[in-house]
Amino acid sequence: MTLFNDILGTVGRTPIVRLNRLAPPGVNVFVKLEAANPMGSVKDRMAKAIIEDAEARGLLQPGQTVVEASSGNTGIALAMVCASKGYPLVVVMAEQFSVERRKLMRFLGARVVLTPASEKGSGMLAKATELAETHGWFLCRQFENDANARTHMETTAEEIIADFDDMPLHYWVTGAGTGGTLTGVARALRARRPETRIAVCEPDNAPVLASGLPQPAIATAGPPARTPSHPMFRPHPVQGWTPDFISPLTQQALDEGLIDEIVPIDGNDALAAAQALAQQEGILAGISGGATLAGALALAKRAAPGTNILCMLPDTGERYLSTPLFADIDAEMNAEERALSMSTASCRFDLPCVSAPAAPAPTVVPMVPAAADPDILHDVRALLHDPAKPVVMFALTWCEFCWSVRRLFADLAVPLHVIELDSVPLQQGERGSRMRAVLHDMTGAPTIPQIFIGGRHVGGCMDVIDAHGSGRLAAELLQVGLSLKEIERDARSYLPKWLHARTAS
Ligand code: PMP
Repeated sequence: MTLFNDILGTVGRTPIVRLNRLAPPGVNVFVKLEAANPMGSVKDRMAKAIIEDAEARGLLQPGQTVVEASSGNTGIALAMVCASKGYPLVVVMAEQFSVERRKLMRFLGARVVLTPASEKGSGMLAKATELAETHGWFLCRQFENDANARTHMETTAEEIIADFDDMPLHYWVTGAGTGGTLTGVARALRARRPETRIAVCEPDNAPVLASGLPQPAIATAGPPARTPSHPMFRPHPVQGWTPDFISPLTQQALDEGLIDEIVPIDGNDALAAAQALAQQEGILAGISGGATLAGALALAKRAAPGTNILCMLPDTGERYLSTPLFADIDAEMNAEERALSMSTASCRFDLPCVSAPAAPAPTVVPMVPAAADPDILHDVRALLHDPAKPVVMFALTWCEFCWSVRRLFADLAVPLHVIELDSVPLQQGERGSRMRAVLHDMTGAPTIPQIFIGGRHVGGCMDVIDAHGSGRLAAELLQVGLSLKEIERDARSYLPKWLHARTAS
């Protein structure tokens, strides 16, 4: 084990794993797990390399903003590198790529500028270029930057060559997005492992490489210069692969004769292969990994016994929860799971508590007559009648229903004063619990949250939502001189998601 000085030290050195159940008998299929990189994809290598190359060549100054067009993984990888090194980052991304990716980038501190799906990959590239030129930002140019291919030659390929030190590698199978993985690894394999055939997979409905048609040149007339779409490009499900143009790095692989075979992949086979890999090998890969595996298995089917095939798996399946990869995966129990649930007596949804053994009592706060705790009663009254804070919620810090009310009121633009009964200051002398007991006595409601407007009790979370629907909430707010903003969504949509699922089924 090694202690690393920063997260960037953990990029690369990804494991290669043998498949034991999916490969045909006698043929050895191995996969290289790029999901083992710190941000879960192959692009960590490139992001680190491009930023460090720009630093070394004086193209990127401390504090300068970095910008790039990305279908997601590059943006996430750059967000890690920029967070670690202290550069602001703007990622330009077409709207159709999975929302998990946008959220991850923003969580890592990046800003994400979306472009319309109709503008395709070349549109997001044009936007990133325009932003860089307008604001003087450093544009990574992943599709043409030599540092991209170079890092794959120096790291990915070296790892493969070392791991196959004592056996021949007959096929290396990859896809191409920027072409960095392809061109970098293939250059090293050609020079050092002449026995290895290089197979490139692409979507069968977008045979950009297989067609042999050249990439149309950039029109010089009229700004902004924009890479034209390749005539064979069609939308496909393999995020990260085959943009709507042949990238300069992929073109180098073509020009240098580095591609021995082009394998067409049916999008449904890609999804099925990713799921088979998960269920039969316990390996979680994304759509491009499934697609590459589908290609590797097609080659394996017609290979002689003893053939060794290495397949790249560029990222993890967890990045695709909102995509067709998980479309058939239920969030709710199916018939078989419901039958399993009903095969024992307790904790069932269909027989709530009837046949179940006595459940431990929930933590009930004993109702204390308000008069019996005059200090607390005084405090609660003072909170309820503070003219500066007419809307008050008694809450628990991490209660989901309390968060529903917070979000609803934030969207209604109503200032909400929240008293967190379980907060550390209110733990002193059990003031929070005592307040809760007094509230119970005052309102008759044992649950939290409880909401008050102008000292009048509105009720709990559900009551607030009903009051929004009936107009009572607006009327109560008017009494204290407040109005509420229109919201487009049904107020019930603010309730916890699991509650919707339960009430819908
Ligand atoms: N698969 C996924 C999921 C990717 O994000 C990428 C990168 N765009 C690739 C494959 C292709 O890698 P490369 O850019 O090195 O060709």
